[in-house]
Amino acid sequence: MNDFFYHAASDEHKRKERAKARELRASQWWRQQIGPGICHHCGEKFDKKELTMDHLTPVARGGGSTKNNVVPSCKACNTKRGAKMDVELNGYLETSVRNTTTQ
Ligand SMILES: [Zn+2]
Repeated sequence: MNDFFYHAASDEHKRKERAKARELRASQWWRQQIGPGICHHCGEKFDKKELTMDHLTPVARGGGSTKNNVVPSCKACNTKRGAKMDVELNGYLETSVRNTTTQ
């Protein structure tokens, strides 16, 4: 069924992946990632406290909280990316809603 993709970003998926993100954030692995204090996006050095966990493919788009989908990001980059993604995501959602309702 091609509605798999639609379900990939369901509330259930988001809830599950956000819970996994919390676990991952508490892991030794994540501490190693933020250890050097480098933002994945701008490459600048920050205090560990300033770095947040950023999903390369956002959870709302079906991305998972896996080691190859999360990177340390400074707050400025995360906010910038978040704002951009919201715009893209709204366009994306409108398209899928249109596609599913016009069938
Ligand atoms: Zn940055």
